[in-house]
This record gives sequence, structure tokens and C-alpha cells, in this order.
Amino acid sequence: MITFRGGIHPPEFKELAESKPIEVMPLPGKVVIPLSQHTGAPAKPVVASGDVVKTGSLIGEAAGFISASVHSSISGKVASIEPWPHPALPFPVNSVIIESDGEDTHDDTIKARSDRQIEALSPKKIKDLICNAGIVGLGGAAFPTAVKVSPPPDAKIDTLIINGAECEPFLTADDRLMRERPEGIIKGAKILARVLGLGKAYIAIEHNKPDAIKIMTETARAIWSEAEVIKVKTKYPQGAEKQLISAILKRDVPCGGLPFMVGAVVQNTGTAFAVYEALSKDKPLYERVVTVTGPGIREPKNLLVRIGTLCAELVSYCGGLKPDTNKFISGGPMMGIAQSTLDVPVIKGTSGLLFLNGKGMLFKTSPEVNCLRCGKCVGICPMRLVPCEIARMAEYEKLEEAENWGILDCMECGSCAFICPSGRRLVQWIKYGKNLIFAERSRKKEKK
Ligand code: SF4
Ligand code: SF4
Repeated sequence: MITFRGGIHPPEFKELAESKPIEVMPLPGKVVIPLSQHTGAPAKPVVASGDVVKTGSLIGEAAGFISASVHSSISGKVASIEPWPHPALPFPVNSVIIESDGEDTHDDTIKARSDRQIEALSPKKIKDLICNAGIVGLGGAAFPTAVKVSPPPDAKIDTLIINGAECEPFLTADDRLMRERPEGIIKGAKILARVLGLGKAYIAIEHNKPDAIKIMTETARAIWSEAEVIKVKTKYPQGAEKQLISAILKRDVPCGGLPFMVGAVVQNTGTAFAVYEALSKDKPLYERVVTVTGPGIREPKNLLVRIGTLCAELVSYCGGLKPDTNKFISGGPMMGIAQSTLDVPVIKGTSGLLFLNGKGMLFKTSPEVNCLRCGKCVGICPMRLVPCEIARMAEYEKLEEAENWGILDCMECGSCAFICPSGRRLVQWIKYGKNLIFAERSRKKEKK
């Protein structure tokens, strides 16, 4: 079965939520919508305290080429705009706080489009609609989709890959979406392919999701036979875009490069679905599917949630936490971010909330001991780096050497730390080194 070089196979723990159909979470009484929930410049607020908004109203406009618009996810009144804890950033971020009127009144400019009307739209118009809908990559990185489908004019794109790998343990949101909304994903893939000037798309799904593979294959056959479902080996991090390209196309994205350099564009299944909804319903991205799971939550679920809903509300809807729960991660266990409060909002990039209680911990918690020079981390690094050396250089703040060894190519997948018998905190050291390098670069920039 096709795959990439390296990688690991951690326990999957998908059984907790994979059989749970997507439930629509009740409307929240309040939402906290960060103006920065994407790669690039934060959106600029276009509302003020006291303004009345509808579901889908623009509340923050994209501020630059790499940025994304932000929309209200409920109808009600803007209570304030203030810094609020953010699930992906280590500092509070300016956020629009909206109190619900309980009505969920939609923006009346919203108009439905038939598939035929969508087919009549020009690629430029489609890109504008994707941009106006505030769509970003829903796999986690939250890169603005309109930018991703606008590669430089000299880039020769020949392949679109829709990423349904969902390789992070525990998470099942993409799996459920593929099983329950396959048409929207295939139609979204067709739209994205057209924007890129392509007549075909690959849909990559890990082989541990047989139902999704079957349903997506049948749906593709029925509505767009140019969508080819490809079964890829269940291995972490199969869902990372460079690894997916390597598995399917046998092409290596150069160090520090982007997929368009090897002719590929990769989009998550949730993103393809959001693109179809944006075009068919004129619907901005104001909700997404989130897996709430882990041994620490009483009733794991897959929920369709309005952006800005506080995580505490999802926990309460899932029956609450078990008394011994001691860890809350936004995202999966490998690349997710540990949280210190349940008062962070669901954002566009939130694929899951994971609650652990000692069970399901994938990383060693015992004190780290000396490197054994066993080479295991080198053998599995999907970026072909030498994690033991890079981490050592970062630890001793030998930043130039760390850069020469490719520290900035590390995608922080955590595979090396997972495999290390010495419990070396390899990713933490690498992140530490990267932060020092970026801090030094901005100091130099400020001086100029
Ligand atoms: S060095 Fe980076 S890319 Fe390589 S395994 Fe470790 S975390 Fe992943
Ligand atoms: S896996 Fe751990 S012990 Fe083995 S070489 Fe890498 S850092 Fe050293």
C-alpha cells in the first residue's frame, strides 16, 4: 500500500468516536470569535460594541493578501471586542464577543446556487467567493484557501489532492464528514479542481477508514468520476501535505518549499466541503465539525459547532469530564496544543478537543535521560532530519548549527519524541530552538 518514507504507528484510539454520527450542537448563548484564527494578518474588525449582527454577517475583514475574513456565527448583539485566551496562541487575541438573540437570523443577502449556476462561474469569481466566505484550511494550519488556490503564474499545477487521511489518533471529524456528507466533499473537490485548471482530483484516505473509502468511492462514481479515491497506508503523519504528496506522486517538496513547487495543491476534506457550502449556499465559514473525545470525557461525540463556542459548552454537552481528567488538548495528541482553560473558543482550525486522564498518553512523562545514540528518531523522521542532533543544538542554543542541520524544516509532528526510548523531549527542544531563531530574526529586523 502506498505511503511515505519514515513515520510511526501510534495507537489509534479512533473507536471512542468513530461510530458517533455528527450531531448539531445547540446554539450557544454567546460566542467569542478571534480576529486571528488563520495564518497571516489578523482580520480588521468592521463592527463595534452594540452593533446588531446576523448569522453570517461580516465582522472582520481580511487585512492583506495572506489573511481571512471572519463572520458572526450567531445572530445577536456585539457585547465587546477585547483580548481573549486563544487555543492556538500563547497570548490573548482580540476577539468579537457576541450575545445571542436566540433567533439564528441569517444574513438575508444569502442566496442559493444550483450546481449548474456554480459551473457557470469563472475561476476568478469562485476565488472571490472562497475569499469572501473566509475559508481556510480546516486540517489545522488554517492557511487561507483563496491564497492556496492562487499559485504563482509560473507554477505548473497538475495535481489536486483532497486530504482525508486524518492520521492524528483519536480524531474522527473528517471520517464522519466523508461518511455523512460525501456529495459536498466531491462537489467541493470538483470546484477546487476547476479553479486550478484541472479535470481530476485524488482523494486520499487512510486504510483504517473502510466505510469512508467505500462511500467516497461510490459517491465519486455517481457524481464525478474524475475524483479518484486512493487508499493510503495508516501511518502517522500521513496527513501532512508533504508526506501525502510523497506517497501519491513520489515527488519531494524541497526543504523550506511549498507543494506548488512540485505541481501539487493539497486541501483538507472539510475545506472542500466548506467550499461547496460557500458556493451553493453563499454560506461563510461559521461552523465546523469537531471531535470531542478521549478517556477523560463522559460521552465522546462528533459535533457540528458554531465558531466561537466556548469549549466549556462542548464539554457540558458531552456529559462533562470524568473526575480524574488532567489534560485538555486542542487538536490531536501528536500535534495538538495543551490548554490551561476550558474558556477558549472553537476556531476554524479546531478539529478536536481531547481529554486525557493518564490513559491514552502517547508521550513518556518520566524524566528524560541521556540519548542512547540508537538512531530510532533518525529512521522515522518523515522530513529526513536528524532530530537527536538538532534537539541537542537547540538545547545548547547553538542556533546557527541547528539551522544548518535543518531545524526550520521540522514540522513538529512529534514522531521522534514518540519513538525515543530515552524520553528525550525532542520536539520541545526543537520548538525552543525555533522560537529563539525567530526572536533573533525579529530583533534584527527591528534594528534595521
Ligand atoms: S524532527 Fe520534526 S519532523 Fe522530524 S520527527 Fe521530529 S518533530 Fe517530526
Ligand atoms: S531516539 Fe532518542 S535515544 Fe535514540 S538517537 Fe534519537 S534521541 Fe537518542
